[in-house]
Amino acid sequence: MNCRSIAALVLIFHSVCFVVADELHVRVVDVGAGLCCVIVTPDQHYMIFDAGNYEDQGQTAITAIRELIPAGSTIDLLVLSHSDSDHLAAVPAICQEFKVSRVLRDGFERTSQTFQRMQQAIAIEVTGDGCEDLNLKNTEVEFGTNYAIGEFVKATFVCGFYELPEDWPELSESEAINARSIVVRLEYADRSILLCGDAVGRHIGDAATVCIAEERSMVDNVDNVPIDSDIIIAPHHGADNGSSRPFLQAVTPEYVVFSAGSKFRHPRAVTAGRYTASGVQLEKIFRTDRGDNEGGEEWASVAGAPHDPRGDDNVEIRIADNGAIDVRYLEIFFAPAAPAFAPSKGHVQSPLAGYPGRMSGAFATPCHVRRGLFRRWRVRGR
Ligand SMILES: [Zn+2]
Ligand SMILES: [Zn+2]
Repeated sequence: MNCRSIAALVLIFHSVCFVVADELHVRVVDVGAGLCCVIVTPDQHYMIFDAGNYEDQGQTAITAIRELIPAGSTIDLLVLSHSDSDHLAAVPAICQEFKVSRVLRDGFERTSQTFQRMQQAIAIEVTGDGCEDLNLKNTEVEFGTNYAIGEFVKATFVCGFYELPEDWPELSESEAINARSIVVRLEYADRSILLCGDAVGRHIGDAATVCIAEERSMVDNVDNVPIDSDIIIAPHHGADNGSSRPFLQAVTPEYVVFSAGSKFRHPRAVTAGRYTASGVQLEKIFRTDRGDNEGGEEWASVAGAPHDPRGDDNVEIRIADNGAIDVRYLEIFFAPAAPAFAPSKGHVQSPLAGYPGRMSGAFATPCHVRRGLFRRWRVRGR
């Protein structure tokens, strides 16, 4: 058996171990300064929310997607929250390697190479594979529209715009691009996860009570489309122009995930502060740039210097069929040399634990032990 076959076997073994029946599994992939969430339902249906990051041409994202979704599978729903390249780079690879049944996107057009490649890949997927293109530029999708992801999981289109409402306050060019973000709420076993893309809800530096633009739209529409959620993938990487206090009061999350990298000083300290002020416990705030500290306004939750690498701080969310929630870090290491691929690390660690030392045991934990850990690990009562 050559090295490649051994590596493939390890990878298959690895993937099989990841999939536990009767659980909704969401991985917030550590793509650096971007976003990619991979969703695997208990009955093996698949959804992808965003496909960052352009800085590595989507490599980290597609690697995680390949690990969680078997080659050639059908993706029930691909959501591209908005047109920024940190959310799009892996789309051509996704369309090439999988069949995408339905794509939901804001339809705002950009000239960036990453955007153009995404656009082209979707066009081919539509003509070649019969993908339904829900492009808000051409297709009206009502807020509150539900999409079944397999038999047990529901994805609701909460908000998202091609054209921005006229009664919003003035936004900068980049704010206007982010404020179009498609927001989706996933539901399984009476639990919910809010995926916010780069939604905007305030201007940087506004008073905590301010809530404008997209977050205001969601807050004003909660009677029609609920946003109350157990877990939030925080808007705009934890930037200060999202996560307004009124929005958090409507979402009332128990767990928060910031998808960020060593760029833009995300997540901001004031943003994390609004979550803790609204009652979120520190140990229930996770970040894909753990160890990064660009100083200044960044939330420095752990010791570390700038430039946290991508790929080492994936956040795993698991919801069991009885509603028990597990959120934790899972670090994936591919050994640079023999012995081929290293299995995932499955140790339990506080998100606030120190940066140094977190690689210990990375190559050692066998899968069955990790699965045992999942069962023992924090099970939250209803
Ligand atoms: Zn972004
Ligand atoms: Zn953006």
